[in-house]
Amino acid sequence: MTRFIFVTGGVVSSLGKGLTSAALGALLQAHGHSVRLRKFDPYLNVDPGTMNPFEHGEVFVTDDGAETDLDLGHYERFTGIPSQTSDCVTTGKIYSEIIARERRGDYLGATVQVVPHVTDAIQKLFLNGLNNEDFCICEIGGTIGDIESLPFLEAVRQFCNRPDTETLCIHMTLVPHLRSGGELKTKPTQHSVRELQAAGIRPGMLVVRAEKPIGAESRRKLSLFCNLPDEDIIEAIDAEIIYELPLMLHSQKMDARILAHFNITPAAQPDLARWRDIIQSARHPEHTVRIGVIGKYTELKDAYLSLNEALVHGGLAHNVRVDTRWLVAEELEDNSEPLAALHGILVPGGFGERGITGKINAARFARERQIPYFGICLGMQIALIEIARSLCDMPNAGSSEFGDPDPAIVGLLTEWERGDGQIEHRSADSDLGGTMRLGAYTARLQSGSLAEKIYGADSISERHRHRYEVNRNFAPQLEAAGLRISGTSPDGRLPELAELADHPWFLGVQFHPELKSRPFAPHPVFASFVRAARDHSRLV
Ligand code: GLN
Repeated sequence: MTRFIFVTGGVVSSLGKGLTSAALGALLQAHGHSVRLRKFDPYLNVDPGTMNPFEHGEVFVTDDGAETDLDLGHYERFTGIPSQTSDCVTTGKIYSEIIARERRGDYLGATVQVVPHVTDAIQKLFLNGLNNEDFCICEIGGTIGDIESLPFLEAVRQFCNRPDTETLCIHMTLVPHLRSGGELKTKPTQHSVRELQAAGIRPGMLVVRAEKPIGAESRRKLSLFCNLPDEDIIEAIDAEIIYELPLMLHSQKMDARILAHFNITPAAQPDLARWRDIIQSARHPEHTVRIGVIGKYTELKDAYLSLNEALVHGGLAHNVRVDTRWLVAEELEDNSEPLAALHGILVPGGFGERGITGKINAARFARERQIPYFGICLGMQIALIEIARSLCDMPNAGSSEFGDPDPAIVGLLTEWERGDGQIEHRSADSDLGGTMRLGAYTARLQSGSLAEKIYGADSISERHRHRYEVNRNFAPQLEAAGLRISGTSPDGRLPELAELADHPWFLGVQFHPELKSRPFAPHPVFASFVRAARDHSRLV
């Protein structure tokens, strides 16, 4: 039977609940247990797909095509287990299903209410799609005290009281440090625990985020007021490298305490070698490379969270520290100066017209100066538009996503054949929420290409999230200019990867490889790009 661990948060948001849950998952895996991690978010959006990255950070995409919360990216990076649609639930998703059922008359005349209908639906979703895992860690988004998280807390309370469940609630809070008095303050945590108890939930463990160790006195107070033994108060001190977290939690015996709570006697010491290796490599780089990411949301690192991590992983593969420079695309419209000091240029995914000219300039700069260039999704489209404009005598080439291109070498494609031979249709005019090509698709790689060499395979599966496609009808002109379409969809209709032969490393991919990179298994394209940047740095 799957045991459930619920992780709630109090005092402030952005405490790192997602990271802590992910690290806990890794720790339980190190004991040989199978885990699944899930996120329950109280907001009313059906999924974060329509939210601006400024609001909610990046949208993480699963193999089965769900647009999910970025915490699912942490879960995957720490556990290596691919998430699925059922691992990300929002109030919006629950209500839209309940209201659709109500309209169909499924409730047979009953009054449909938050309790029991919504709370029952939430409990079903705790259990939905599990595979007999030893543990399911459910992170409840939001902060205790928010009106909108109440149905989730009520569902957790009811679920924990069921005779057929084994559960543990972990509450995460902040213990702030007041500079003036030099003091750590436990009062907000005491209040937050009281509020949780008022909702009928008794936390069995407290994880406190603090700038520095909380010390015996604060621990004693927390233990006294929150009804917990000292050992069940775990500190989460700000870590320099996030991958230190599993070791940090283990050093406080969090894993042992959790296993004891469920009456499990560990068979052996956990195997944490993989995390020790990562830390070792991260702490002792032999080389540093400067990689410029040309984006729109550069002041908000969460907007490019997976990308940033995948670059770090690429560095871990070669003992290289990646110094990522976040450059604002609009500032590169008529100024290439900031690009000159880079060892690698990366244009990531993006939507809309803003910043396009700066990104095209960056691609041209990389192409002409032989600087490694990595274009992801929009970044691949940009590279091809740049080549069409500069080398194919199409000065107005562009994408139908922006401006009035002539010709549109990137445009909407509404129908194509999938790997399994089925024709997939995409509607061009429904709501923005439903028109994207999402999730894992197969691509075939051309033999002898850089892409094939990097992957060491002729067929790959990668995750997509985009509306527009490169129009293969322009392939002959682009190929005459030295570009090679090195990967396509299985039916050959959709260009998936493109590269330049006459360049040390120039690759565009229509998908998002950053979503599948892990610290212990760096994505081959990121590893190859970082190595190319290192080689370039030795030349300059
Ligand atoms: N805006 C482009 C498209 O929809 C690229 C999307 C992306 O980079 N994720 O095709």
